[in-house]
Amino acid sequence: MSRQVATDFPPQGDDIAVVAAQLGRRPRKVHAVAHRCPCGNPDVIETEPRLADGTPFPTLFYLTCPRLTHAVSGLEASGLMREMTDRLAEDVALARGYRRAHERYLERREALGAVPELAGISAGGMPSRVKCLHVLVAQALAAGEGVNPLGDETLTRLAPWWEQGRCVVAEGASRPHPLTGEPFVSPVPPGQGWPGDPATRATPVAVDAPSVRSAAETASLPELTASMSVCRACPRLVNWRETVAIEKRRSYEHEPYWGRPIAGWGDTRPAVVIVGLAPAAHGGNRTGRIFTGDRSGDWLFASLHRVGLATLPTSVHAGDGQRLLHTRMVAAVRCAPPGNKPTVAERDTCTPWLQAEIGLVLGSVRCFVALGSYAWDVLLRVLRVLGADVPTPRPRFGHGVSVPVAMPGRPPVPVLGSYHPSQQNTFTGKLTEAMLDDMLLRARRLAAVGTVTSHSADRATAPPDSTPP
Ligand code: SF4
Repeated sequence: MSRQVATDFPPQGDDIAVVAAQLGRRPRKVHAVAHRCPCGNPDVIETEPRLADGTPFPTLFYLTCPRLTHAVSGLEASGLMREMTDRLAEDVALARGYRRAHERYLERREALGAVPELAGISAGGMPSRVKCLHVLVAQALAAGEGVNPLGDETLTRLAPWWEQGRCVVAEGASRPHPLTGEPFVSPVPPGQGWPGDPATRATPVAVDAPSVRSAAETASLPELTASMSVCRACPRLVNWRETVAIEKRRSYEHEPYWGRPIAGWGDTRPAVVIVGLAPAAHGGNRTGRIFTGDRSGDWLFASLHRVGLATLPTSVHAGDGQRLLHTRMVAAVRCAPPGNKPTVAERDTCTPWLQAEIGLVLGSVRCFVALGSYAWDVLLRVLRVLGADVPTPRPRFGHGVSVPVAMPGRPPVPVLGSYHPSQQNTFTGKLTEAMLDDMLLRARRLAAVGTVTSHSADRATAPPDSTPP
């Protein structure tokens, strides 16, 4: 990757539109594109030291690429800044180099215009502390190698963020959300107002299997949901989900794609938990909600509505008003995998999210439904780790199979197997509407949710709502 200085290239062509899409707002007082990513997009801009309204603005170099920003945030969350600050106190050569970086920062900014209020103040904690790695990385990219030693060091710790292609595309980089009309780039950065986005810009990012395990130990369901929705622990899946989000399917090219992991969704004290395999590339990966936006989801939500476990017969997009009743949906793997086939390593890396989520809601669950053999196997393994007495050998999956799983201190909880409502199963008639309705009615009855008055024969009249269990 190029590290040469590029500090005086005025924005060209779509640069400002791209930066606006990257930031989610129009950038202020851009003096130059200070560094360009190998993909061609700006990834650092140089900003005038005084904004149009007269406000002094100390941050000369600003990271714009959401992928790069995310990756740097992950390092910040790892405690690297504290460790660097400690080293500055002990390492004289490092401290000298860091002070020189501070001076270079001031020189460059003063060359753009004197702002007395900012005299002697750089950014990022320089010259004696490390308070913002984004600032250091931005200077390292803009000024070139050898100027900011801690910015250089941080860059060596980052995976090549540009290899996944452009984070946004120049022309019409942002697209309006189909329901709210708000513009979003794809993939959607956290905390930008996407309906139901559980994360904020400050949500820590898990970048490998150990950090997933550590983040999954969180105490609350909202924190868990937020953390999993920004996870970047599986490089192949991150690359796939984001490439799909940027390239899009033609029929959805006018829409933004979520392009992030799909968190569990539904009741926070569910009586029924439905476990699927993984989000679809142009379904959940586009809409940001599990089982939403593809044929499988259409089938599943229609059936859930018929049996009284969802308020609406369709689920089209996060923010559409759909609500699950006493029910929660989760996926064994949270990112869309190529060919719907996660590797064993990816499954194992992701399992702590599922395990933690099921552990947090287990107290209210009276029935599990596994959609397909993959979800069945992962679910039984997770329940065993959570202390359930799962029969040995592990029962084989089959449509209609029910296994009572003994839980410490409470009655056994049934785990039902159902064919997955994949197109392959529904097109071929392997799974019919009646079969799926039967399974979900059974789950509802086993979970003692409301009054089940019918079987599949009168599923169309199943009650639209239900009393709490
Ligand atoms: Fe993270 Fe799971 Fe996605 Fe891997 S599959 S990146 S562990 S959310």
